[in-house]
Amino acid sequence: MLGQLEHRIRSLFRPRKLRGADIPHDKVTADQATTYMPLPDVVVLPMQQHIGAKCQPQVAKGDHVDVGTLVGHAEARTAADIFSSVSGTVTEIRKIFYSNGDTDVAVVVEPDGAQALDEGVKTPVITDYQSLLDAMKRSGIVGLGGAGFPTDLKLDVDFANIDYWLVNAAECEPYISSDYREMMEHPDTIMHGLTTCLDLSGVKRALLCIEEDKTEAIAFMRAHVEKDPRVKVEVLPERYPQGAGHVLVHNATGRHIPRGGHVTDAGVVLFNVTTMSMIGKFLQDGIPLTKRRITVMGDAVAHPQNVEVFIGTPIRKIMEFCGLAKDARKIIVGGPMMGYSQIDWDYPIVRQNNGLLVFSEMGMDKPRTTACIRCGACINSCPMKLYPREIQNAYRRGDAAALDRLAADLCMKCGTCSYVCPAKQPLTQATRLACDQVKAARKAAKRAAQRKGA
Ligand code: SF4
Ligand code: SF4
Repeated sequence: MLGQLEHRIRSLFRPRKLRGADIPHDKVTADQATTYMPLPDVVVLPMQQHIGAKCQPQVAKGDHVDVGTLVGHAEARTAADIFSSVSGTVTEIRKIFYSNGDTDVAVVVEPDGAQALDEGVKTPVITDYQSLLDAMKRSGIVGLGGAGFPTDLKLDVDFANIDYWLVNAAECEPYISSDYREMMEHPDTIMHGLTTCLDLSGVKRALLCIEEDKTEAIAFMRAHVEKDPRVKVEVLPERYPQGAGHVLVHNATGRHIPRGGHVTDAGVVLFNVTTMSMIGKFLQDGIPLTKRRITVMGDAVAHPQNVEVFIGTPIRKIMEFCGLAKDARKIIVGGPMMGYSQIDWDYPIVRQNNGLLVFSEMGMDKPRTTACIRCGACINSCPMKLYPREIQNAYRRGDAAALDRLAADLCMKCGTCSYVCPAKQPLTQATRLACDQVKAARKAAKRAAQRKGA
């Protein structure tokens, strides 16, 4: 009771120095129930479907695999095992290209239609937090909001200073409504995952953070969380990017993640709502992550919808299912703000992808860049309170000291500055490169200092 009262008082006095932008959400698929794609005739499983080291194939051409058979593994700590989403035969281990020019290896499986479950799949027996961590290593679950961070690694924290378990259900990206459908269709597995984690970690408070425009989900989830006094629904403003880690932590708790720090430095852990639900589901049946829901939208899509796909389903197959209404000219995997362009129709949907957008020539925005008019809109809207135009200038003249002074490494690559800029300056592209440059320089300096000290 005291916890509830304290939370309410904190909410009243919490500073809400919001930036970000008022970007139309256009979630026209939100009210449609999830559809289910039939088994495709091929699944392609790249060995990097997470942040971290690439996995190595654990199967060879001609091998039989079942649903949940391990097909990719890495010894590195930052990686997540990859499991087959279908039963069938491995027909190829082939090279694939990412749209950023990077290459990878993929295991290609031709389904046999039986969808037999691997005999090693067992419901995990959870007795304490360590057994939860051990079980999650066999789950293949990664951050499903788009980040792809291995979930077992994210759960492996020292809870001594953690007093909030935050669940990110903001889903602030326009068009995408995959997390929304998870709340409306699977509130019980969300709660099972969350309450198990709270029980075993000892964290006493959890906030399920939802943007204010999702009124049905707020009411629906409030009804589900009220049985557990530790869990509350926190309503966030409808303003992009509410779901970004720094913004959500600040707006939900009033705390700041320090520069170069981690969410745990603010005394919180943060998990996407569908990730939380998949944890709950895995604890119930022990089946590794083999399917996921994606939002398929864009003016070239005949039937926009939320569809559950087998991980590794090629984009071409998904578009055959959803239909093309116009000639497609642009494919974006993820949301329109933070997703990436894809040029290969045979590239698969992997586990961290939450959206697939397909646009025609007409649906593509092709703005002409003009001179900066010094309006300050980019500064006023940046959720990290950065100076995007200054960062762009410093990056162009190669001024590393200025980039460090301007804290370019805090850029979340959210795209807000580019969106609001009336001159359509490519600010996000510059700040993204500047951010990577500052981080790389920091790492190099740290390594040099370590070598000197050794
Ligand atoms: S500078 Fe980075 S964090 Fe700020 S609005 Fe631009 S992309 Fe987002
Ligand atoms: S929003 Fe665009 S035009 Fe305005 S100050 Fe920033 S870069 Fe210049």
